[in-house]
Amino acid sequence: MQALTNRAKQVDRRPMTFAEKLYIPAIAKGMGITFKHIFQRKATVSYPDQKREFSPVFRGLHILNRDEEGRERCTACGLCAVACPAEAITMEAAERKPGEEHLYREEKYAARYEINMLRCIFCGFCEEACPKDAIYLSETFAPANYQRKGFIYGKDDLLIPDPKAQNK
Ligand code: SF4
Ligand code: SF4
Repeated sequence: MQALTNRAKQVDRRPMTFAEKLYIPAIAKGMGITFKHIFQRKATVSYPDQKREFSPVFRGLHILNRDEEGRERCTACGLCAVACPAEAITMEAAERKPGEEHLYREEKYAARYEINMLRCIFCGFCEEACPKDAIYLSETFAPANYQRKGFIYGKDDLLIPDPKAQNK
């Protein structure tokens, strides 16, 4: 039958020589390839002692932002959740009470805000959709975890520390 391509290879069916039966040529060839790779640039790094530099456009873990007075910027409008193609964001809105103006910038805030990092594809659409500059993707990534629930990041994990509280 005619071959469709010229890539077919004839199988060598000659009987093996004595040296071939001892696998000496094959071992020598394999060692040659190993030595060749010793002097080549390594494709891997010794993580976590050594870390790769991220690309300038790298998109990592999300951060919920505060304003210059330390108040939460998110107003639980839900635009990020609507824009998310992976449906990774869930939230519950709550109304700001009198006396909480120093905590939340808007009259409505996210009482609960969660991102499932196992669903997230780090596309950055949530950051682009946010009208309040409340969410952005940082240059860190989610550490490994043995449990699925460990990848569901709540407000405690996402919110940046209050700069005012840190200066006290
Ligand atoms: S980065 Fe993309 S996939 Fe991840 S939460 Fe934001 S919009 Fe959804
Ligand atoms: S992070 Fe931005 S887009 Fe998402 S709910 Fe909060 S204010 Fe709206």
